[in-house]
Amino acid sequence: MSTAIYSHPDCRLHDMGEGHPECPQRLDAIHDYLLATGLEAALDVRSAPLARLESLALAHESHYVAELKDLLEQVAASGEPRALDPDTVAGPGTWRAALRAAGAAVAATDAVIAGEIDNAFCAVRPPGHHATRGETMGFCFFNNVAVAARHALDVHGLTRVAIVDFDVHHGNGTEDIIAGDERVLMLSIFQHPLYPYSGAVPLGTNMCNLPIPPYTRGGEVREMIEAMWMPRLEEFRPQMIFISAGFDGHREDDLGQLGLVEADYEWITQRIKSAADRHAKGRIVSCLEGGYALDALARSVAVHLRVLAEL
Ligand SMILES: [Zn+2]
Repeated sequence: MSTAIYSHPDCRLHDMGEGHPECPQRLDAIHDYLLATGLEAALDVRSAPLARLESLALAHESHYVAELKDLLEQVAASGEPRALDPDTVAGPGTWRAALRAAGAAVAATDAVIAGEIDNAFCAVRPPGHHATRGETMGFCFFNNVAVAARHALDVHGLTRVAIVDFDVHHGNGTEDIIAGDERVLMLSIFQHPLYPYSGAVPLGTNMCNLPIPPYTRGGEVREMIEAMWMPRLEEFRPQMIFISAGFDGHREDDLGQLGLVEADYEWITQRIKSAADRHAKGRIVSCLEGGYALDALARSVAVHLRVLAEL
C-alpha cells in the first residue's frame, strides 16, 4: 500500500491565541511522533497546495467564499486578529492555512483517483466539519472534507461517495452541505448533548447519525458502528470514502467525555478500510478534524495511519 500524508508549514501559521485548544502545536505533536516512531519514513510525504476558489465553491456559497477571502486578506494585511464567533478567531496566517487545508483534501483526492497513491491522510488545520455552506463555526472556516467529496463527484464524475465522521462533535457543517445530496452517504457518531448540540434528528435520508451519551466506551461504540454503519456502507457501495478524522473522543481529551483509546481508532479505521477495499478500490482520503490532548492525538493519528498504510 502507498499512503500519502499531506501537510504544509502554512497550517502552523493559523493561530487563534494563547491557550486556544486548536493550536499549531497539534501538528507539531503529530509530526514529531511520526518522525520518532519511524512511521513518517514509510509514508509518501506531500506538500499541500493552495485550494482554488472554484473548489471551495463546490461546497460553499460563492458569496461566502468571496466575503471570507476579503475578510481574511484584510486580517492578514493588518496583522490584527479578529473573532468571527466565540470559538473562531482569524489571524494573519489564517487565509493561507485555510487554503492549504482544503487544498490538501482536493489534491489528495486527485492523487487517489489518479491511482498515484492508495489513500491519504491530510495533517492540516484549521479543521472543517463545523463550517456550513455560508458560515464559519467551531474553529472551522472551509469544510475540507465536503469540498473534497464534491470535487470527487463534480470534477471526477464519481456517483457515490461516503463521508465518515468520528469526531466527538457532530459534523453539523458537513450535514448542512450534503443533506439531501443522494450521491453522498454520511455516517457519523458523536457525543450528544455536546457542542454544537445538533444531529439528534438527521437532516436527510442520506445521513446515519449516531448520537451517544457522555462516558460511552469503545466496546459500545464498536457495536453501534457494526450494527448501524456497516450495513449502510455495504448497501451504498461507495466509490470512495472520505473521513472526518477527529480524535477528540479519546479518553484523555477534555473537549469531550467519551472513552475511546487508540485501539478503538485502529478498529474503526480497519472497518472503514475494509469497506473501501470491497467497494471503492481502497480509495480513502482522511482529514484531521479535532483532537486536543496532544500526546493522545499523536498516538491516535499514528494507529490510524498504520491501518491505512497496512504497516
Ligand atoms: Zn471535535
